[in-house]
Order: sequence, then C-alpha cells, then structure tokens
Amino acid sequence: MRNLYATLNNTETLDDENNHIMVQIRLHGTKRQVTINAMIDSGATEDFIDKRFCSKYNIRTTQAKKIREVYLADSRPSAMGPITHTAQVPMDIGSHRELAIFQVAKLPNHEVIHGMPWLKQHSPGNDWGQGKITFESERCTTWCLKESPTVYAIPEDEAREENLQVEFGVAQSKKDQRVKVKKLDPQAKIPTRGSAQAAGHDLYANESKTIPARGQEVVRTGISITPPRGTYSRIAPRSGMAVKHQIDVNAGVIDSDYTGEIKVVPANMGNRDYQIKNRDRIAQLITEKIVESDCYEVKMLKKSNRGQQGFGSTETSKAQICEISARDFGKFYRRPDTTTGILKYSKKEGRISLESVNISTELAIKSGKYQKQRKLEEMVPQEYHEYLDVFKEGEKTKLPPHRPGVDLEIKLEEGEGLPIKKIYALSQDELKELWSYIKQNEERG
Ligand SMILES: [Zn+2]
Repeated sequence: MRNLYATLNNTETLDDENNHIMVQIRLHGTKRQVTINAMIDSGATEDFIDKRFCSKYNIRTTQAKKIREVYLADSRPSAMGPITHTAQVPMDIGSHRELAIFQVAKLPNHEVIHGMPWLKQHSPGNDWGQGKITFESERCTTWCLKESPTVYAIPEDEAREENLQVEFGVAQSKKDQRVKVKKLDPQAKIPTRGSAQAAGHDLYANESKTIPARGQEVVRTGISITPPRGTYSRIAPRSGMAVKHQIDVNAGVIDSDYTGEIKVVPANMGNRDYQIKNRDRIAQLITEKIVESDCYEVKMLKKSNRGQQGFGSTETSKAQICEISARDFGKFYRRPDTTTGILKYSKKEGRISLESVNISTELAIKSGKYQKQRKLEEMVPQEYHEYLDVFKEGEKTKLPPHRPGVDLEIKLEEGEGLPIKKIYALSQDELKELWSYIKQNEERG
C-alpha cells in the first residue's frame, strides 16, 4: 500500500519497498508514560509525533516560532500540516534516554517517526540482519546511555500490528555512509576535511614523535573508526608532507570491523629527521567502496584480454603453457591478434616450436587422416554390418530430385544479403563436424 505522505521539503521519490525499522520507545508525558513502536526512517527529513497522540498522553507541546507547511510529493500542502507546534518529551529506547524534540503533525498512520535529525544526533548503528540497533556515538555513550547500548528492533509487521498501523511510505532510505569516529583520548582530534571536495580527511597526531631520517615510526591518533559497511578506509600520505619533507606513509588498510586505535606509520624518505608535533596533521584517511567477495580455488581462470596479450606478446618472454578447453581453443582461433598452431618438439634440436596453422587446413588434415586411416568396417560396429550400405558414400552425396509441393522455394531478391546473426563459438569437435557437413553439401551442389 502506498501513502503519498511526504516529509518537509522532501521531493524524493516514494518507495514502498522500503524496509523500515520499528523500535519500541517509552515517552514520558506530564501525567503518564506510554510505550509505543516508533518508526526509524532515514528518508524522513524531520522527527514527527502525532498531534492526537500528544494530547491523549499529555505530551506537552509548544508553539513553534515559525509555522511550517508540509508538502506532498506533487507540492500540494499535505493534510498532515501545517506544523504549528513542537513537542519536547523525555524518551527511552532501551537504556538510551534523551529529551526528544518532535514536529507535531497529523500523522495518518504513525505515532512517532524518527527521521534524519534524530539519526544524525545519535548515529545509531543498525544491524539489519539481526534487527539490532546500537547506540555507540560519543554523544550517546556520554549522555544518553545508562546500561547496554543495544536495543532490539521489532519486526515491522509485528510493530505495525501492535500500533494498528498501515504502511506509511516515505522517501527512500539512504544508508548512513559516514565514517564513525570514537575518541579514545578526550584530547584526540576528530579527522577533518581540508575542503568540501577533498577525497580524504586529515588525521591528527595525538603525540609528538621524531621520524628519523630513512626510518619510520608509529604515531598514535587517539581515535578509532568504523568505516560504513561495504567500504574500507586507508591511510594515505598527505601530498604536502610528501613533497616538502619526503614523508610517505607505510599505510594500513582499516577494515570496517577493526575497532582498535588508528596508528599512522610515517616513513621518512629524506636525509633529515622530521619532527611530528602533537595535533599535527600527519596523514589522510580515504574511505573507498569495496566488493565483499570470497576466494575459492579453481582449476583454471578465465582468460582476459590483458592476460592473452601478455601471453607470448613479446619474443623475449618465456612461453607459458597451460591446458585450455576445446572451446577456448576455438576462441583463440578467431582472435585476429593471436597465433594458434601446433607445438612441435624437435628431438634433433631439442627445442619446441610453434607451427602456426589456420583452422580450415588443420581440420582438413585431421578429417583426411581419419578417413584414410579407418575403413568403413572399422568405424561401424560389427552388429550393424548388414546395413553397411547405409553408411557408404552414394545416395547422400547426390542431390535428391526436385519434388514440387514438398521442397519449398526461396525466392532471392537481388541486392539482399544474408541476415547477420551472432556467431557461436564451437568446440574443435563441433567445428570438425561443421566442416565435413559443409564439404559434403558442397559436393551435393
Ligand atoms: Zn543518543
């Protein structure tokens, strides 16, 4: 079911395949508490609470300084708004407590929606597979948490049933692509971006150290990070330091599951010691997307263009010998930039040479050999010898007489060509068969 509710300023497309996270919250109204399932939706641009819900549970609302309209995707004002009030209410999610601030709106299907502002403030980690939400941001560990930072999400269907809600489609959810940073030392500096477009974040030293000429050192940063799932972070040299002071970084790859302190290994390629002061920018942190793939052993790797060009492309290179399938052999034949042939070993000279051939000559040689070497009686099993004439040359080499009404006439138009279709790669055996078929039919006319 699709509901064209759009959030404030939201022009994104609505997506009803959205997998929303529902989580149990407890709101402390002025007279009583209420436990309800709230939706977490990164597609919502605001945090919302339902107007009637507020009055029912004595959740205090205050007049907003500015009245804000809520628009639908087609830019008509929504029946949800305008938003005239905000609500401030103590809220518990597991052991996580905060003073939550909501925009009060007439929500048709939900009581509470945690949108981007709430997500940004608390940066909770989501384990979608396990339906687990963990509050691990510095703000949360410092201010919000009493005990365990983890709460369990409620299966959406269940949550909806509990709340007697129907689906509420908001804009497409975007996974959090930010790198989480935890200070291990309160004095440590959070990495900063040199400019808005900079690829990396500058990492700061959390101690002073001298990097000896032609040597390297390990420098602490006082932080640990968690790159977003599907990414990794790497430590790269800062170009200024590399150029001016010949400081490279013997870098580390930081996997998204490494939780230890980030340490930088500056290497001094110059001839003078280099002094790193506490809080100096020492390297940059670059986060890149990765494909999470597994390794497994195979007998043979698929040939790539590059690999094939490398093979035998220079005369000085040693020949690499590998076993390939008949199908691949057939493919080799068709490549204009490769030479295919038969390896011949000369006992006299004690060396191997490649006698290059083209496919038709080779197949002709082979089929000729087979026919000469083997008599019909040898090829046909003994029990079928009484039908030997069926296998003999004769009828099949002649064109049968024309039968009107049975044979179909194909009228060829002048200037028309044959349709060009995909050519399929054939194995050596298939090619051999095709070759003899063509030859046979050529003979028949
Ligand atoms: Zn928090």
